[in-house]
Amino acid sequence: MPGNPEPNPAAWPARDAVQAAPRVLVAELTHRCPLGCPYCCNPLALEPREDELDAATWARVFAEAAALGVAQVRLSGGEPGMRRDLVDIAAHAREAGLATTLVTSGVGIATRTLRDLWEAGLDRVEVSFQDADAVTADRIAGSRGAFQRKFALATEAVRLGLPLTVGVVVHRANIERIGAMVELALRLKAERVEFTWVQYRGWALKNRAALTPRPDRVARAVAEVEALRQAHRGRIAIDVSAPDRRAHGSGSFTEGAGCCSLAVTPSGRVLPFEAADCVPGLEFCNVRDRSLAEIRTRSPAFAAFRGVGCQAREAAPAGVPDDAPYAYRRM
Ligand code: SF4
Repeated sequence: MPGNPEPNPAAWPARDAVQAAPRVLVAELTHRCPLGCPYCCNPLALEPREDELDAATWARVFAEAAALGVAQVRLSGGEPGMRRDLVDIAAHAREAGLATTLVTSGVGIATRTLRDLWEAGLDRVEVSFQDADAVTADRIAGSRGAFQRKFALATEAVRLGLPLTVGVVVHRANIERIGAMVELALRLKAERVEFTWVQYRGWALKNRAALTPRPDRVARAVAEVEALRQAHRGRIAIDVSAPDRRAHGSGSFTEGAGCCSLAVTPSGRVLPFEAADCVPGLEFCNVRDRSLAEIRTRSPAFAAFRGVGCQAREAAPAGVPDDAPYAYRRM
């Protein structure tokens, strides 16, 4: 791909450096998305539509992933609903024997498409919510009416019998409504709510000052989540990424990199973890040129992260007002 020179295979590490097989493939089908979340981890230079892998190539990638031992694929983005061939892609994932999760903003995907996905064998749906409060949620997403559309799609998923996860990225603007978001998930009859601390990559890094919550609020939120887990045990699963040990706000985004998961970008670059392309100096191979097995076992980008824990931690900026302006992601 332009700007992504192929690493020199002569310098690739020996095969015996390889670790356990990955279990999860994150398939970033597109960077297109109708929303513009300021915490988006997509790169500032989004990969254009004309570079996206076609459905036949995704089918090959899924088959190669299954051969590696991958059990699950997360159909992600951007908004995967922007792909007209999404149902075909999901069907290919099922044909490869992978359990499939649709990771969606809930906007830009029709309920009819969701039904088609269900018929194609989709296993689960994860809908992201910016907030439990509709007005704030729409402000964060940069799109009026987004909350209602998300609510409608999540409701339809449950009606179809698809297990639903409510995904929430926690940051300064919504950290006070942790409990309300669990209530929202319960109202939607979700199986799970997953809180992720904002991770400062891509657009989130650009908006770091406006997104970072104050340390006292983080400590309170951590305690609140734990109390909610206890209170709702057996009713709904509540997952949360670990907040920064030194400060707060950044999950352990390189944990398991290249080992238990891997990600493929819309144009086919293979990353040891989502958004690894924000790490300076790494070069990534492309599934258009090489098999997934060869890339994972021998490419330097994967070797660089094997066995590495969280490397990126952010300090809390001081003196930033709660209503600091966002730079919205736009494609
Ligand atoms: S974080 Fe927001 S803008 Fe980024 S892909 Fe998800 S829904 Fe779209």
